[in-house]
Parts: sequence; C-alpha cells; structure tokens
Amino acid sequence: MQTILAVDDAQDTLLLLEFDLQAEGYEVIKASDGQDALAILEEKDIDLVLLDLYMPGLSGLDTLRKLRANSEHINVPVIMLSASDDEDEIVEALELGAHDYVTKPYIAKVLLARIRNALRLREKTLKLENVAKTDFLTGLINRGEFEHLSQKAISQMSRNNENIVIAMLDIDHFKKVNDTYGHEAGDQVLKAFARILEQCFRDYDVVGRVGGEEFAVCMPNIGQHDAISACERLRRLVERETITTADGQNISITTSVGVASAQHVDGKHDFTYLMSLADQFLYQAKEQSRNRVVSHRFVDTHDADIDVTPIVTEDLAEQGSLVGIDYQVGVNNVLGDDNLFMEILKMFYDDHHQDSDNIQQAINGQDQARIKHLVHTLKGVACSIGAMQLFEKCKALDTAVNEVNTGTYQSLFDNVSFELNRVVEGIRKELDIGER
Ligand code: GH3
Ligand code: MG
Ligand code: MG
Repeated sequence: MQTILAVDDAQDTLLLLEFDLQAEGYEVIKASDGQDALAILEEKDIDLVLLDLYMPGLSGLDTLRKLRANSEHINVPVIMLSASDDEDEIVEALELGAHDYVTKPYIAKVLLARIRNALRLREKTLKLENVAKTDFLTGLINRGEFEHLSQKAISQMSRNNENIVIAMLDIDHFKKVNDTYGHEAGDQVLKAFARILEQCFRDYDVVGRVGGEEFAVCMPNIGQHDAISACERLRRLVERETITTADGQNISITTSVGVASAQHVDGKHDFTYLMSLADQFLYQAKEQSRNRVVSHRFVDTHDADIDVTPIVTEDLAEQGSLVGIDYQVGVNNVLGDDNLFMEILKMFYDDHHQDSDNIQQAINGQDQARIKHLVHTLKGVACSIGAMQLFEKCKALDTAVNEVNTGTYQSLFDNVSFELNRVVEGIRKELDIGER
C-alpha cells in the first residue's frame, strides 16, 4: 500500500483528504504543520507528500526547501495545495522541485489523477536509478554505486571511530576461462561468482562488481582478523565449487584477494586510499601464484607500527588433517607464527582432550561450579585456536550453565562433545600424537 503524507493546518481539509485518499486505497498520515511533517518524513517511508502552501510557522515553501535539502527525501514527489491567489508562490514551489499543484477547494477526481501521475513518474525514476546503479550481468551494484555506498559507510565508521575494511577480488586466469569455454560460459562464471560473494558476506557489507572480472567488498565495523577470515572462507568456497554452465560444462576457478583495513593505516578512513591499498595486496596475491588472500601483517593493537608486510593465507588443504579449526583464525591469533600455533595446538590437546569425560562427570555429579569452569575455559580456548564450531557449541552450553538451565545441559553437551572429539582427533593426526 502506498503512503501519502498530508500536511495542512486546516483540520477540515485534512479530514477530507484522509477520506478521499483512503477511499482510493492509500494509507494516509496527517501532519498539521511543516515541522511535524519533516519529523514524520524522518521516521516513515512516505511515497508522496501533499503540502499546503500557506501554514503558520514553517510555511509550505520553507518546508519544501528543507525537504529538498535532505538527500534522503530529495526525490519524494510533492504536490502543493494552494489557495487560488498565490500564483507566484506556486511558480516558486515548482522551481523548488514540487511536482505539481492543486488548488483548494480541490476536486477529488483531479487530485487523485495528479497523485497517480506523480506516483507513476516516481516509479519510473526509481527504476531508472536502479538501472544506473546495477551491473546488468550479475545484478550486483556497479562500480559507481559501490564507491557511493562505501564512501557513506566509511564516513559513518570514521565518525564512530570504528574500523572498516575493503577487499578487492579478482578471478584468476579468467581469460583462459573465456578462451577455453567461450565468452558465454565466462559470463555464467561471473554470475556464479557473484552469488558466492553474496552468500559469504553479511547483509550490511557492500558487495559490487567493479570491473570485468574484478569485484570488491566493503565491510564496515569489523576487525581485520574477521575480515580476513571471511575472505578466506570465500576463497575456499570458490575453489571448491564447480560451476556447471547451461550447456553442461564443468568449470572450476580460483580467486585472489587483497584486504586493506583502516585501523592499520592509522585509521585512515579514505575510500581511494583503501582501494589502492587493497589493489596492491591483490597484486601481491597474483605475484605469489594466485588463489590466496593477502593483507597487512596482522596486529591487533591500534597503535602498533604501521606494517604493511603482507601475510599470505595458506591453503587449508596443505594444512593436513586439522578438522573443525579455521587455521587462518588460529594462526592470526599468534601473529601468523605457524610454529607457535602448532605448539598451542599441542597444549590444547594436552589440556583438553579429556574434557568430554570431565564435563560428563561434572554433569552426572551435578557439580555446577565445575561444569561452569570447564565449559567456560573450553569456550575461550576454542576461540583462540580458531575452532569456531566448537566455540559456538560451548557458548550455547555456557549460556545454559549461567542461566542454570539444567534440563538442557546434556543435549548441549552432546553437541560440544561431538565437536570436541572431531577437533581433538584432527590435532592428534596433524601432530602425529600416539593413540590415547
Ligand atoms: P589474472 O589471474 O592475472 O587476473 O589473469 P586474468 O586472465 O584473469 O586477467 P586479465 O585481466 O588478463 O583478463 C581478464 C579477462 O576478463 C579479459 C576479459 O575478456 C574478461 N572479461 C572482462 N569482462 C568480461 C565479461 O563481462 N564477460 C566475460 N565472459 N569476460 C569478461
Ligand atoms: Mg583476473
Ligand atoms: Mg583483472
């Protein structure tokens, strides 16, 4: 249903408008002065405004001026309601961007026809705007819109002193895909890649196609660590997925990713700068034989020395048998030091491989304090080694324990136990530790 905001200081006019518009199926919101109308526009989605010219306080023209000065409302159609003797003001209103005017007392049929017209025009404009922002092949936003939305997000993050990350992604050897399977198949690969991208990132991340086979993601309010993990997850998904074209050809691709984080460059919240940095890392990923994510060396303190030596994520497959562990997350927690990470995994194994038995005993003995201690500790360590599934499962149990929700302990623990055993078994194999 479309919503019309009717603004008039005369209550009888408002009531009449409400009656006529509701009869036509519009939702009507009433405001008795300009100030009130502007406040409503901030809060509600309004499709059209009927605005009285002469009102005490903020006049119709002043209201219109303020409304048009606000970029959010710049395109809302406005029809002025005027007494027949204010022609000069009508001209001014039209120049200020009113769509149309109707004289009072109005004739319902005429008013409704003008409203329909204005709404139709608005719909067309919206469609055109949408076309101008969209990449027609993949349906993602195009480069211009990516820049526009990223800039907006960047200024907001800068105001809130939050981090923001830009990742640039480029499909590896895409020319070969075209050469081998044809341009049509290449197009289908681009579409499939776009779908994977949409799947991988959060709803409020800005995802766009910024070039032929180049894509970019702007991630507001995220740490570098999590941003790298998200890109790494995407890289692996792309690598694993086989794209089947309409004519039945199976195509595999890989992608290289460069990730630039504002907190690394002294909180430099600047679109062009972050894009060029992401592009440099992407170039390095290509140099280092592709199919990888490259970023600043990971540091988690804000004021650490600016160090843009790249870290390169390793292919998980090369990490052998680790199961249930996001290697990248874990290794980043120890500043990218693989050897140290292996030692930490060994410590985890030593300290926690019997946790399943211990927790089960504590549950059986209804030892609330001990359950709490064991689960809480396991949760923390799971997170730091990058065992994210285990972390989530411990978290659920930990919450239940804090709420003394004893009826759910066993089933939540079963989840923890299953996942813990998977992780422990993976570490055991990886580190070649003898059978327990
Ligand atoms: P690299 O790993 O270094 O990125 O190699 P590449 O082959 O992916 O990169 P290059 O820049 O040499 O080639 C990109 C290719 O992408 C060339 C161009 O024909 C193709 N391309 C660009 N836009 C489209 C498109 O819309 N559809 C198709 N099918 N191909 C496209
Ligand atoms: Mg490429
Ligand atoms: Mg390219």
